[in-house]
Amino acid sequence: MDTNSGKLFLCATPIGNLEDITLRVLRILKEVDVIAAEDTKHTKKLLNHFKINTPLTSYHRYNKEKKGRKLIEMMQKGKNIALVSDAGTPGISDPGEELVKHASSEGIAVIPVPGPSALVTALAVSGLPTKKFVFEGFLPRKAKEREKLLQELEGEGRTLVFYEAPHRVKKSLEDLRKHMGNRKICIARELTKQHEEIFRGNIEEALEKFQKNTPLGEFVFVVEGNQNPRNQKSIWNELTVKEHLLIYINRGLSKKQAIARVARERNLSKREVYDVAIDLKE
Ligand code: SAM
Repeated sequence: MDTNSGKLFLCATPIGNLEDITLRVLRILKEVDVIAAEDTKHTKKLLNHFKINTPLTSYHRYNKEKKGRKLIEMMQKGKNIALVSDAGTPGISDPGEELVKHASSEGIAVIPVPGPSALVTALAVSGLPTKKFVFEGFLPRKAKEREKLLQELEGEGRTLVFYEAPHRVKKSLEDLRKHMGNRKICIARELTKQHEEIFRGNIEEALEKFQKNTPLGEFVFVVEGNQNPRNQKSIWNELTVKEHLLIYINRGLSKKQAIARVARERNLSKREVYDVAIDLKE
């Protein structure tokens, strides 16, 4: 550790309600030389509210390499820097992750100053098991990558947590239904804000609720883990190939997708499954 260099303080900020800022974060934001923020305009409002005049600089996904190097140099020259994201804990699904990696590899002390995070807040309020969980951040945008990930997660027994953008809520719910079936889900919207909403139900009920218009706000999905991961194989063996195919077709998979999936799960060739699927309607 370089004892002459400045420090990087990871300062968590509110995810909505400004009263959720901690006393320690406020003190550090006042004391550091510079605050590096994902969106300086956004953070300026927070600083104005708490009458903090520390200089601000931007650090976001489009300048993270160049700016990251500059911030490291500043810390090596003895400056203390606080990193904040738009909301929540920097480093969780935002570019802060890379600055932490870079700073720690340069021997700069990285000091956590904890506080809110949408991930933990949603999980805690979900009503689903919290003892063991998997956080997946945002689902991939590309259909193929999404498909691959959801297939990998299908047998996961731990509770699953995802971040989601409002315009993709409906599509993601459809994809979750296809891959996970009609599991329990908690959708935490606008946490700690005026229009906070905690929806608890199953995926089909969620689809009914959120499919009409593009919903507004920020979302976290908390999805029940697979309750029968080990028995899944024996469950398939109790079904005929046709019944097995119908499960996926009824969930919304195309015939081609259902054939590929059933073939994989039963260790059959696609040809063998195709012969059974031939008379089935999508
Ligand atoms: N680092 C942040 C944290 O610790 O929560 C998360 C950053 S990530 C770029 C932003 C995502 O977090 C949003 O798209 C949304 O999924 C989730 N999020 C942030 N604030 C939220 C809120 N008030 N209610 C629900 N979800 C929120």
